[in-house]
Amino acid sequence: MRQYNPKRLQRKLLSLTTAAALSLLTSVSHAWAAASINDIRIWTAPDHTRLVLDLSQRVNYDLFRLHKPERIVIDLKSTRMNAKVSKLQLPDPVLLSIRHGKQKNGTTRLVLDVKEGVSPRSFLLKKANGKPNRLVIDLIPKQKPVIKTKSQQPKTKHKDIIIAVDAGHGGEDPGAIGPNKLYEKTITLGIAKSLAAYIDAQPGMRAVLVRSGDYFVKLGNRVKKVRSEGANMMISIHADAVKQRHVKGASVYTLSESGATPDRIAAALAAKENASDLIGGVMPGQEVSDPFIRNILGDMAKRDGLDSSEMFANLVLEQLKYGFPVKYHKPKHARFAVLTALEIPSILVEVDYISNPKREHLLRTKAHQKKLARVIFNAAKTYFIRLGRLHENKPMIHTVNHGESLWSIAKKYGVSISSIQKLNGLKQKALRVGQRLRLPQS
Ligand SMILES: [Zn+2]
Repeated sequence: MRQYNPKRLQRKLLSLTTAAALSLLTSVSHAWAAASINDIRIWTAPDHTRLVLDLSQRVNYDLFRLHKPERIVIDLKSTRMNAKVSKLQLPDPVLLSIRHGKQKNGTTRLVLDVKEGVSPRSFLLKKANGKPNRLVIDLIPKQKPVIKTKSQQPKTKHKDIIIAVDAGHGGEDPGAIGPNKLYEKTITLGIAKSLAAYIDAQPGMRAVLVRSGDYFVKLGNRVKKVRSEGANMMISIHADAVKQRHVKGASVYTLSESGATPDRIAAALAAKENASDLIGGVMPGQEVSDPFIRNILGDMAKRDGLDSSEMFANLVLEQLKYGFPVKYHKPKHARFAVLTALEIPSILVEVDYISNPKREHLLRTKAHQKKLARVIFNAAKTYFIRLGRLHENKPMIHTVNHGESLWSIAKKYGVSISSIQKLNGLKQKALRVGQRLRLPQS
């Protein structure tokens, strides 16, 4: 007969309890999934649609396609849906609808109904810069073959000066956030669009918007777009933020040469702006490491680009001084990834501090955004006039589009209706499509 051993019994009981607890835990993790999807967002870009899931932790997932009708299915293992899918604004040009359901084994299944020929690309992003673990699903529509007929070719003459206007941040990357929740990405787009309108109204000039909506463009692709459009100038628009709320004023940056005296404040700002790829969501391994490594320009073109950038930056600062607070009265220099289109004058303007509540309030208004755009436009114009590439006296022209009125045109350029009427000798307010209107110079 076995002897009663209290210690042995205790051990046995303990191991039983552990096993029971473990099995209980396993079943709990099936019923109450370990991870959760806490938010879901969608960003529509001209060349893709991006779906972003905020995750409580890293998850395992499978992605596959089903046809007739076209669907993309994502199975997230041991994951619970805590996000409101119904809040998404759908349909989108490629994503028609989203459904989700719980599978027996604790898997959450997302079904995306997509347009014909859409191909998916997905990747996980690690927790970084205040953003949680994320799953990014890009939906890329089938490329339509581009057949250019004569009438579709660009209307502008070959000699037009092309100015690339780059609205900082966008989509997943809000940029700096003001005390009253104004996003940098929102005001940069507002100013960029106004600036583009002024440029397009100037005979001999044409604008290219690097970003035209609320979506993310990675830094490398911004530079690529500037180059592929054959731009003669690049203006990147940003707004800064610091802890001290009273700080205000604009500053203008150009790219620094390697080996130049390091400016710690400018370098910190460049690091902040260059982190955009991590926040906006670039497939791991494709982030910009060092823009200088990939720089393929010769020394002459580089030197020329740096000199012209400096000259243009000074012109912008001179113009800004007339109506805006300026933080630094000389251009500052740092290694900004977005300024590597070195062969042309390329500047980054921090229009003001969004962290200052008074400035944030102003920056939110369209009128203030327009004033800033106008000043930057004047500087660009002066630059090309000095170079002898633009005539000083040519008035700005607006060609009337469908649905436009004198009121909407006056609003667009921040001028009065009566000044347009006077300048163009207009007796009535009715306009016809295609009518060319001269715009007041200031
Ligand atoms: Zn920025």
